Amino acid sequence: AKPIVAVVGRPNVGKSTFFNRIAGRRISIVEDTPGVTRDRIYAEVEWLRYQFTMIDTGGLEPASEEPIPRQMRNQAELAMEMADVIIFMVDGREGLTLQDREVADILRKNNKPVLLVLNKVDTSNQSEHFYDFYELGIGDPIEISSELSLGIGDLLDEVVKYF
Ligand code: GDP
Ligand code: MG
Repeated sequence: AKPIVAVVGRPNVGKSTFFNRIAGRRISIVEDTPGVTRDRIYAEVEWLRYQFTMIDTGGLEPASEEPIPRQMRNQAELAMEMADVIIFMVDGREGLTLQDREVADILRKNNKPVLLVLNKVDTSNQSEHFYDFYELGIGDPIEISSELSLGIGDLLDEVVKYF
């Protein structure tokens, strides 16, 4: 089977934007409920002759009434079960938040590889919050801009090293 890469992180850090960049084009799933359009959550990706499946865990529980912290916990736990490599996304403009710490606490409980990705770094300057993220104990942050497609190739290079 192909390796699985899961994208986790609190709402609004840019998981769907990243995912749609990777998937190459914007494809939406239209649900049975009229007017409800969801982003795609699975993509087959090929990078440097490696093939893998990427999952946007933020899309796994679309109609959930559960509070956000519980949704994040479920998503992170699912990612730990399913994934071979986890991309933990945070917002490099907003900086480290309590919810980021909560996700990190879950991810640190397993021994799967986790790549800490600072999204929304839209310039060539390092995020002013860069060093704060070392507090999460996940390792060196990798900076990208999903909106501008910056740093994504370098990130995928790091991902496939774990296969
Ligand atoms: P999700 O909830 O984690 O899936 O986040 P979304 O992909 O829905 O993005 C949340 C918001 O952040 C949207 O307004 C995006 O346009 C914005 N966003 C995503 N990536 C970037 C980025 O690289 N730079 C900037 N400036 N905004 C971004
Ligand atoms: Mg999303």
